Amino acid sequence: MRMRSYQVCQCGSPLQRSEGEAPTPQGTQVLLKVLAAGVCHSDLHIWDGYYEIGGGKQLNLVDRGIKLPLTMGHENVGEVIAVGPEATGVKVGDIRLANPWIGCGECAACRRNEENLCVKPRFLGVFSQGGYSTHLVVPHARHLFDIGSLSPQQAAPLACSGVTAYAALKKVQATLATDPVVVIGAGGVGMMGIALARMMGAQQVIAVDIDPLKREAALKAGATLAIDGGASDAVALIQQATGGGSVATLDFVGSGPTVDLAIAAAIKGGSVVVVGLYGGAITLPTPYLPMRALTLRGSYVGSHSELAELLALVNQQGLPAVPISTRPLDEVSTALADLRAGRVIGRVVLAG
Ligand SMILES: [Zn+2]
Ligand SMILES: [Zn+2]
Repeated sequence: MRMRSYQVCQCGSPLQRSEGEAPTPQGTQVLLKVLAAGVCHSDLHIWDGYYEIGGGKQLNLVDRGIKLPLTMGHENVGEVIAVGPEATGVKVGDIRLANPWIGCGECAACRRNEENLCVKPRFLGVFSQGGYSTHLVVPHARHLFDIGSLSPQQAAPLACSGVTAYAALKKVQATLATDPVVVIGAGGVGMMGIALARMMGAQQVIAVDIDPLKREAALKAGATLAIDGGASDAVALIQQATGGGSVATLDFVGSGPTVDLAIAAAIKGGSVVVVGLYGGAITLPTPYLPMRALTLRGSYVGSHSELAELLALVNQQGLPAVPISTRPLDEVSTALADLRAGRVIGRVVLAG
Protein backbone atom coordinates (compact mmCIF):
# COMPACT_ATOMS: atom_id res chain seq x y z
CA MET A 1 0.00 0.00 0.00
CA ARG A 2 1.56 3.28 -1.09
CA MET A 3 1.52 6.23 1.30
CA ARG A 4 1.96 9.91 0.42
CA SER A 5 2.70 12.54 3.06
CA TYR A 6 3.60 16.21 3.21
CA GLN A 7 6.36 16.85 5.72
CA VAL A 8 8.22 19.67 7.40
CA CYS A 9 11.85 18.69 6.86
CA GLN A 10 13.33 22.03 7.88
CA CYS A 11 11.52 24.72 9.86
CA GLY A 12 10.18 27.46 7.62
CA SER A 13 11.02 25.67 4.34
CA PRO A 14 8.33 24.37 1.95
CA LEU A 15 6.66 21.09 2.88
CA GLN A 16 8.25 18.10 1.13
CA ARG A 17 6.17 15.41 -0.51
CA SER A 18 7.34 12.00 0.67
CA GLU A 19 6.25 8.63 -0.67
CA GLY A 20 6.74 5.15 0.67
CA GLU A 21 4.97 2.04 1.88
CA ALA A 22 2.21 2.55 4.46
CA PRO A 23 3.34 1.14 7.83
CA THR A 24 1.95 -2.18 9.08
CA PRO A 25 0.25 -1.59 12.45
CA GLN A 26 2.03 -3.26 15.39
CA GLY A 27 0.65 -4.23 18.81
CA THR A 28 -2.40 -2.11 19.64
CA GLN A 29 -1.87 0.27 16.69
CA VAL A 30 -4.61 1.09 14.21
CA LEU A 31 -3.92 2.20 10.63
CA LEU A 32 -6.34 4.74 9.16
CA LYS A 33 -6.80 5.85 5.59
CA VAL A 34 -7.16 9.61 6.07
CA LEU A 35 -10.54 10.88 4.82
CA ALA A 36 -10.36 14.42 6.22
CA ALA A 37 -7.60 16.50 7.81
CA GLY A 38 -8.36 19.97 9.19
CA VAL A 39 -5.81 22.74 8.66
CA CYS A 40 -5.14 24.49 11.97
CA HIS A 41 -3.47 27.82 12.66
CA SER A 42 -1.10 26.22 15.17
CA ASP A 43 0.48 24.31 12.26
CA LEU A 44 1.91 27.64 11.07
CA HIS A 45 3.86 27.90 14.33
CA ILE A 46 5.02 24.29 14.15
CA TRP A 47 6.12 24.86 10.56
CA ASP A 48 7.95 28.08 11.50
CA GLY A 49 9.47 26.28 14.47
CA TYR A 50 8.84 28.93 17.12
CA TYR A 51 6.43 31.10 19.07
CA GLU A 52 7.06 34.81 19.63
CA ILE A 53 7.31 35.45 23.37
CA GLY A 54 7.85 39.20 23.27
CA GLY A 55 10.91 41.43 23.41
CA GLY A 56 12.18 39.90 20.15
CA LYS A 57 12.57 36.51 21.88
CA GLN A 58 11.32 33.19 20.55
CA LEU A 59 10.33 29.86 22.03
CA ASN A 60 12.01 27.24 19.86
CA LEU A 61 9.84 24.20 19.18
CA VAL A 62 12.65 21.83 18.22
CA ASP A 63 14.07 22.47 21.72
CA ARG A 64 10.61 21.56 23.04
CA GLY A 65 10.81 18.07 21.56
CA ILE A 66 9.44 18.40 18.04
CA LYS A 67 11.37 16.08 15.74
CA LEU A 68 11.80 16.56 11.98
CA PRO A 69 10.81 15.41 9.44
CA LEU A 70 7.25 15.83 10.72
CA THR A 71 3.94 15.24 9.00
CA MET A 72 1.67 17.85 10.60
CA GLY A 73 -2.13 17.58 10.76
CA HIS A 74 -3.93 16.95 14.06
CA GLU A 75 -7.62 17.14 13.04
CA ASN A 76 -8.14 13.78 11.41
CA VAL A 77 -10.94 11.44 10.46
CA GLY A 78 -10.08 8.17 8.77
CA GLU A 79 -11.30 4.76 7.82
CA VAL A 80 -9.76 1.81 9.66
CA ILE A 81 -7.92 -0.27 7.03
CA ALA A 82 -5.69 -2.45 9.24
CA VAL A 83 -5.26 -3.18 12.96
CA GLY A 84 -2.34 -4.55 14.98
CA PRO A 85 -2.54 -8.03 16.52
CA GLU A 86 -3.44 -6.65 19.97
CA ALA A 87 -5.88 -3.93 18.82
CA THR A 88 -9.44 -4.20 20.10
CA GLY A 89 -12.53 -2.01 19.86
CA VAL A 90 -12.42 -1.17 16.14
CA LYS A 91 -12.62 -3.18 12.93
CA VAL A 92 -11.68 -2.63 9.32
CA GLY A 93 -14.20 -0.31 7.63
CA ASP A 94 -15.01 1.75 10.76
CA ILE A 95 -14.83 5.52 10.30
CA ARG A 96 -13.30 7.27 13.28
CA LEU A 97 -12.16 10.69 14.56
CA ALA A 98 -8.67 10.48 16.06
CA ASN A 99 -8.10 12.33 19.32
CA PRO A 100 -4.60 13.73 18.68
CA TRP A 101 -3.93 14.79 22.29
CA ILE A 102 -2.21 11.58 23.33
CA GLY A 103 0.00 11.56 26.42
CA CYS A 104 2.51 9.15 27.96
CA GLY A 105 -0.24 7.44 29.93
CA GLU A 106 1.86 7.47 33.10
CA CYS A 107 2.35 11.02 34.43
CA ALA A 108 0.02 12.70 36.95
CA ALA A 109 -1.90 14.56 34.21
CA CYS A 110 -2.44 11.38 32.20
CA ARG A 111 -3.52 9.50 35.34
CA ARG A 112 -6.23 12.09 36.01
CA ASN A 113 -7.35 11.75 32.35
CA GLU A 114 -5.90 15.07 31.21
CA GLU A 115 -3.57 13.64 28.58
CA ASN A 116 -3.69 17.02 26.82
CA LEU A 117 -1.59 18.35 29.74
CA CYS A 118 0.90 15.46 29.68
CA VAL A 119 4.53 16.33 30.45
CA LYS A 120 5.76 13.90 27.76
CA PRO A 121 3.15 14.40 25.01
CA ARG A 122 2.94 12.26 21.89
CA PHE A 123 0.36 14.47 20.12
CA LEU A 124 -0.43 13.36 16.57
CA GLY A 125 0.81 15.85 14.00
CA VAL A 126 2.95 17.66 16.61
CA PHE A 127 5.23 15.15 18.35
CA SER A 128 4.38 12.17 16.13
CA GLN A 129 3.27 11.83 12.51
CA GLY A 130 -0.11 13.41 11.67
CA GLY A 131 -2.71 13.49 8.96
CA TYR A 132 -1.35 15.61 6.09
CA SER A 133 -0.97 12.20 4.53
CA THR A 134 -2.93 9.42 2.91
CA HIS A 135 -2.42 7.25 6.03
CA LEU A 136 -2.22 7.75 9.79
CA VAL A 137 -1.14 5.38 12.58
CA VAL A 138 -2.96 5.77 15.91
CA PRO A 139 -1.28 3.99 18.85
CA HIS A 140 -4.47 2.63 20.43
CA ALA A 141 -8.15 2.38 19.52
CA ARG A 142 -9.11 4.20 22.74
CA HIS A 143 -8.08 7.44 20.99
CA LEU A 144 -10.69 6.86 18.26
CA PHE A 145 -14.23 8.20 18.37
CA ASP A 146 -17.34 7.22 16.43
CA ILE A 147 -18.57 10.27 14.46
CA GLY A 148 -22.21 9.17 14.34
CA SER A 149 -24.10 10.88 11.54
CA LEU A 150 -21.42 13.54 10.87
CA SER A 151 -19.40 13.53 7.65
CA PRO A 152 -15.60 13.17 7.96
CA GLN A 153 -15.18 16.82 6.83
CA GLN A 154 -17.62 18.02 9.48
CA ALA A 155 -16.14 15.91 12.26
CA ALA A 156 -12.40 16.50 11.68
CA PRO A 157 -12.23 20.10 13.05
CA LEU A 158 -13.82 18.94 16.31
CA ALA A 159 -10.51 17.26 17.28
CA CYS A 160 -8.72 20.61 17.75
CA SER A 161 -10.70 23.72 16.96
CA GLY A 162 -13.88 22.18 18.42
CA VAL A 163 -12.48 20.73 21.61
CA THR A 164 -10.22 23.76 22.19
CA ALA A 165 -13.22 26.09 22.07
CA TYR A 166 -15.36 23.70 24.12
CA ALA A 167 -12.76 23.27 26.89
CA ALA A 168 -12.25 27.07 27.09
CA LEU A 169 -15.99 27.67 27.32
CA LYS A 170 -16.30 25.09 30.10
CA LYS A 171 -13.96 27.26 32.18
CA VAL A 172 -16.56 30.06 32.14
CA GLN A 173 -19.66 27.87 32.00
CA ALA A 174 -20.98 29.12 35.35
CA THR A 175 -21.75 32.57 33.89
CA LEU A 176 -22.70 31.64 30.32
CA ALA A 177 -26.46 31.73 30.85
CA THR A 178 -26.49 34.94 32.90
CA ASP A 179 -23.79 37.21 31.48
CA PRO A 180 -22.51 38.07 28.00
CA VAL A 181 -19.39 36.17 26.95
CA VAL A 182 -16.80 38.11 24.97
CA VAL A 183 -14.94 36.19 22.26
CA ILE A 184 -11.81 37.85 20.87
CA GLY A 185 -10.74 36.58 17.44
CA ALA A 186 -13.18 35.10 14.92
CA GLY A 187 -10.78 32.76 13.12
CA GLY A 188 -11.45 29.02 12.92
CA VAL A 189 -11.34 28.35 16.68
CA GLY A 190 -13.01 31.62 17.66
CA MET A 191 -15.93 30.96 15.30
CA MET A 192 -16.27 27.53 16.82
CA GLY A 193 -16.26 29.21 20.25
CA ILE A 194 -19.03 31.59 19.22
CA ALA A 195 -21.23 28.81 17.83
CA LEU A 196 -20.59 26.45 20.74
CA ALA A 197 -21.23 29.20 23.30
CA ARG A 198 -24.76 29.51 21.94
CA MET A 199 -25.21 25.73 21.98
CA MET A 200 -24.01 25.67 25.62
CA GLY A 201 -26.61 28.23 26.67
CA ALA A 202 -25.04 31.66 26.18
CA GLN A 203 -27.69 34.31 25.53
CA GLN A 204 -25.24 37.00 24.46
CA VAL A 205 -21.98 36.42 22.60
CA ILE A 206 -19.92 39.51 21.78
CA ALA A 207 -17.38 38.88 19.02
CA VAL A 208 -14.32 41.12 18.76
CA ASP A 209 -12.20 41.07 15.60
CA ILE A 210 -10.21 43.62 13.62
CA ASP A 211 -11.37 42.17 10.26
CA PRO A 212 -14.84 43.27 9.05
CA LEU A 213 -15.29 40.02 7.07
CA LYS A 214 -14.63 37.95 10.18
CA ARG A 215 -17.03 40.13 12.23
CA GLU A 216 -19.70 39.45 9.63
CA ALA A 217 -18.96 35.70 9.70
CA ALA A 218 -19.09 35.82 13.52
CA LEU A 219 -22.59 37.27 13.44
CA LYS A 220 -23.66 34.47 11.09
CA ALA A 221 -22.11 31.89 13.43
CA GLY A 222 -24.26 33.13 16.32
CA ALA A 223 -22.62 36.23 17.80
CA THR A 224 -25.22 38.75 19.01
CA LEU A 225 -22.89 41.71 18.54
CA ALA A 226 -19.57 42.27 16.77
CA ILE A 227 -17.04 44.92 17.82
CA ASP A 228 -13.96 46.16 15.94
CA GLY A 229 -11.05 45.19 18.20
CA GLY A 230 -8.83 47.68 16.39
CA ALA A 231 -11.06 50.67 17.25
CA SER A 232 -9.39 53.22 19.54
CA ASP A 233 -12.35 52.94 21.92
CA ALA A 234 -12.59 49.11 21.80
CA VAL A 235 -12.35 48.87 25.62
CA ALA A 236 -15.24 51.31 26.09
CA LEU A 237 -17.30 49.54 23.42
CA ILE A 238 -16.89 46.19 25.20
CA GLN A 239 -17.65 47.76 28.59
CA GLN A 240 -20.76 49.38 27.17
CA ALA A 241 -21.94 46.18 25.48
CA THR A 242 -21.44 44.14 28.65
CA GLY A 243 -23.07 46.63 31.01
CA GLY A 244 -19.89 47.86 32.72
CA GLY A 245 -17.23 45.26 31.93
CA SER A 246 -16.82 41.69 30.80
CA VAL A 247 -17.47 38.86 33.26
CA ALA A 248 -16.01 36.25 30.92
CA THR A 249 -13.62 36.79 28.00
CA LEU A 250 -12.09 34.13 25.80
CA ASP A 251 -9.09 35.32 23.81
CA PHE A 252 -8.62 33.13 20.74
CA VAL A 253 -5.82 35.36 19.42
CA GLY A 254 -3.45 35.53 22.39
CA SER A 255 -1.31 38.45 21.27
CA GLY A 256 -0.02 41.11 23.66
CA PRO A 257 -2.61 43.69 22.50
CA THR A 258 -5.57 41.25 22.66
CA VAL A 259 -4.75 40.05 26.19
CA ASP A 260 -4.30 43.71 27.22
CA LEU A 261 -7.71 44.48 25.72
CA ALA A 262 -9.32 41.52 27.50
CA ILE A 263 -7.88 42.58 30.87
CA ALA A 264 -8.75 46.25 30.38
CA ALA A 265 -12.36 45.42 29.50
CA ALA A 266 -12.89 42.94 32.36
CA ILE A 267 -15.17 43.80 35.27
CA LYS A 268 -14.17 43.17 38.91
CA GLY A 269 -14.25 39.43 39.50
CA GLY A 270 -14.06 38.78 35.76
CA SER A 271 -12.23 35.94 34.04
CA VAL A 272 -9.92 36.07 31.03
CA VAL A 273 -9.12 32.75 29.37
CA VAL A 274 -6.25 32.89 26.88
CA VAL A 275 -6.49 30.23 24.18
CA GLY A 276 -4.76 31.66 21.09
CA LEU A 277 -1.05 31.17 20.48
CA TYR A 278 -0.41 34.23 18.33
CA GLY A 279 2.43 35.18 20.66
CA GLY A 280 3.68 38.32 22.36
CA ALA A 281 3.88 39.54 25.95
CA ILE A 282 1.96 41.68 28.43
CA THR A 283 2.93 43.89 31.34
CA LEU A 284 0.39 43.56 34.10
CA PRO A 285 0.40 45.78 37.20
CA THR A 286 0.26 43.11 39.93
CA PRO A 287 -2.25 44.97 42.16
CA TYR A 288 -4.81 44.52 39.36
CA LEU A 289 -5.12 40.84 40.12
CA PRO A 290 -6.20 41.22 43.77
CA MET A 291 -7.85 44.65 43.55
CA ARG A 292 -9.97 43.68 40.58
CA ALA A 293 -10.20 40.04 41.71
CA LEU A 294 -9.27 39.00 38.19
CA THR A 295 -8.83 35.45 37.02
CA LEU A 296 -6.29 35.17 34.21
CA ARG A 297 -5.80 31.65 32.95
CA GLY A 298 -4.90 29.61 29.90
CA SER A 299 -6.64 26.73 28.24
CA TYR A 300 -4.90 24.19 26.00
CA VAL A 301 -6.89 21.97 23.61
CA GLY A 302 -9.07 19.55 25.58
CA SER A 303 -9.22 16.20 27.32
CA HIS A 304 -10.51 12.85 26.08
CA SER A 305 -13.72 13.27 28.08
CA GLU A 306 -14.23 16.84 26.79
CA LEU A 307 -13.99 15.54 23.21
CA ALA A 308 -16.55 12.84 24.08
CA GLU A 309 -18.86 15.51 25.59
CA LEU A 310 -18.47 17.70 22.52
CA LEU A 311 -19.35 14.86 20.13
CA ALA A 312 -22.44 14.09 22.24
CA LEU A 313 -23.43 17.80 22.19
CA VAL A 314 -23.02 18.04 18.41
CA ASN A 315 -24.92 14.81 17.79
CA GLN A 316 -27.73 16.15 19.99
CA GLN A 317 -27.91 19.80 18.85
CA GLY A 318 -26.36 19.74 15.37
CA LEU A 319 -23.08 21.11 14.14
CA PRO A 320 -21.75 24.55 15.02
CA ALA A 321 -22.41 26.96 12.13
CA VAL A 322 -18.78 27.31 11.05
CA PRO A 323 -18.09 27.34 7.30
CA ILE A 324 -15.95 24.42 6.12
CA SER A 325 -14.25 24.32 2.73
CA THR A 326 -12.64 21.19 1.33
CA ARG A 327 -9.42 21.02 -0.69
CA PRO A 328 -7.33 18.10 -1.96
CA LEU A 329 -4.41 16.89 0.20
CA ASP A 330 -1.96 18.00 -2.50
CA GLU A 331 -2.97 21.64 -1.86
CA VAL A 332 -1.83 21.59 1.77
CA SER A 333 0.89 24.22 1.21
CA THR A 334 -1.48 26.70 -0.44
CA ALA A 335 -4.09 26.04 2.25
CA LEU A 336 -1.51 26.93 4.92
CA ALA A 337 -0.42 30.02 2.94
CA ASP A 338 -4.04 31.21 2.73
CA LEU A 339 -4.45 30.71 6.47
CA ARG A 340 -1.28 32.70 7.17
CA ALA A 341 -2.51 35.52 4.94
CA GLY A 342 -5.81 35.66 6.85
CA ARG A 343 -7.76 34.62 3.74
CA VAL A 344 -9.62 31.69 5.37
CA ILE A 345 -13.11 32.12 6.77
CA GLY A 346 -13.92 29.19 9.04
CA ARG A 347 -11.99 25.97 8.45
CA VAL A 348 -10.22 24.30 5.54
CA VAL A 349 -10.30 20.51 5.54
CA LEU A 350 -8.05 18.43 3.27
CA ALA A 351 -9.58 15.37 1.72
CA GLY A 352 -8.09 12.48 -0.25
ZN1 LIG B 1 -5.07 22.82 16.14
ZN1 LIG C 1 1.57 11.83 30.54
